[in-house]
Amino acid sequence: MSKKHKKAGVQKIEYSSIKILTGSDLSSRRLAMMKIESKNPGPVIWLTGCIHGDEVGGIAVIQEIFKKIRKSPLKQGAIYAFPLMNPIGFETSSRSLSLSKEDLNRSFPGSKNGSLAERIADKIFTKIMETKPNLVLDLHNDWIKSVPYALIDPYPGLKYREVYEITKKFSKETGFLVINEQETDDDADELKKTLSGSLIRNNIPALTFELSESYIINEQFVDDGIKSIWNILSMLEMVEPETVKFTHPSLGSFEGKILKYSHLPTSSTSGIARFLIKPGTVVKKGQPLARVYNVFGRHEETIVATADGVLLGNSDSAVALPGTPLMAFGLL
Ligand SMILES: [Zn+2]
Repeated sequence: MSKKHKKAGVQKIEYSSIKILTGSDLSSRRLAMMKIESKNPGPVIWLTGCIHGDEVGGIAVIQEIFKKIRKSPLKQGAIYAFPLMNPIGFETSSRSLSLSKEDLNRSFPGSKNGSLAERIADKIFTKIMETKPNLVLDLHNDWIKSVPYALIDPYPGLKYREVYEITKKFSKETGFLVINEQETDDDADELKKTLSGSLIRNNIPALTFELSESYIINEQFVDDGIKSIWNILSMLEMVEPETVKFTHPSLGSFEGKILKYSHLPTSSTSGIARFLIKPGTVVKKGQPLARVYNVFGRHEETIVATADGVLLGNSDSAVALPGTPLMAFGLL
């Protein structure tokens, strides 16, 4: 550590809030914001959490990253955070904004005069854009039985190729499996309205982290999230790197690869699903993944892998319905 950095000493965390809504009881609803900054100019990074109210893990990851930086100060640049973007959904453990049933992460870049979700999205988006960030990491959670992974938005088109390539470069530093979301015809417009998708369309590199289990703070995945973010901050020379760079055990032979997201195959029958393999397992085309039984225990169907890849997660529910996702994969 240079003399200059030592002088910087403990960096203070700035806490502030942005007004988003007045409740029916005239209560003022706010978005909490955090910031920590080095005296030395450098990269600007945003960490955002709980845009889906039931995906609470990111809040703890953000809190812990700030605590860690107070002990091991930033060498350059600044980190901003919105730890809890959907406080309304959080209080009812619901994904959407419980007041309007809207998905905040399908409401970007938002609008000053739009719906409730669009107005909140506008406040978030405007604030983030003001700071001209080099990278935004949006922290989510997934099924209970899933492995953590870094998710890249669907290809945004030639116009945004450069920012997309930078995003991909960051993704390979996460130490997680890297999954590229695929656009289908019916969700193409919706996926453009995610926080990360809207940022990329404004030339800001943005990655989504899926840090496994929703609803509760799972300390293991909080720890994985902190280590992964530390990899990126180290790569940007904003913090002292750990002696050993973090790699999640599920990465294995997929290091340096970008896999395609898929939730296929789905079941073609209705019944009770019994999963045969654990998330993080490497799968081969044709390998049995789950069996579906009817209510009397008759074996109706065995679901097999459509391609080589890795199992990301098994659904939170044993209910098999035709066409409903039961598993998620990263495919080669
Ligand atoms: Zn989410």
